[in-house]
Amino acid sequence: MIEFCLASGNAHKVAELQALAGTSGLAVRIRSAREFGGMPAVEEDTGTFVGNARKKALALRARLPAEVWALADDSGVCVDALGGAPGVESAYYAGPVCDPAANLAKLVATMRGVPAERRRARFVCVLVALGADGEERVVEGECCGRLLAEPQGGGGFGYDPIFLPDGHTASYAEITEAEKNRISHRARAWAQLADWIRTR
Ligand code: IMP
Repeated sequence: MIEFCLASGNAHKVAELQALAGTSGLAVRIRSAREFGGMPAVEEDTGTFVGNARKKALALRARLPAEVWALADDSGVCVDALGGAPGVESAYYAGPVCDPAANLAKLVATMRGVPAERRRARFVCVLVALGADGEERVVEGECCGRLLAEPQGGGGFGYDPIFLPDGHTASYAEITEAEKNRISHRARAWAQLADWIRTR
């Protein structure tokens, strides 16, 4: 059995990672930072997904017992026509306070009038697992697609309603949680972490 504690206060990410772990068939337990005094505040200022995820994992690591791994997720949506923005700034696209609705509205407005062939985007998820002895595992998953002109669907979170994954006719917010957990950037990152867990 390997235990992870999620270095995240984002309930949606926690739910997705718990679902991914739960269906992986692995002897994995995913614990919440709340059990260890909560997720410490971290300034996400490194400019990279890996750097930010590592910072979050390190901050939580200090609160964990040796047998529990810190597991951090840093993720975002990278839009080709915007040179990869909002990317690592996805959580703060509309301003320094994380406001998912304002972020989504800003991206819709920024992309207004951009033709279909220039709406390519990809979601990226970096997971960093950090053990008590400093052992670190970094994995990355991505899901390519394009941005819709208007939000579609009420499920998911963040930018889900405007992301149409390749090979699908429904947005991330319209497909079921199980389907998102089959194809998403987070699912693909988790699959690599699961391979590593199997080898341990
Ligand atoms: P961070 O990893 O804490 O910097 O925040 C990631 C941000 O990227 C979130 O606040 C969302 O806006 C966005 N994001 C990451 N993953 C997803 C996803 O699966 N769906 C929709 N938005 C996401």
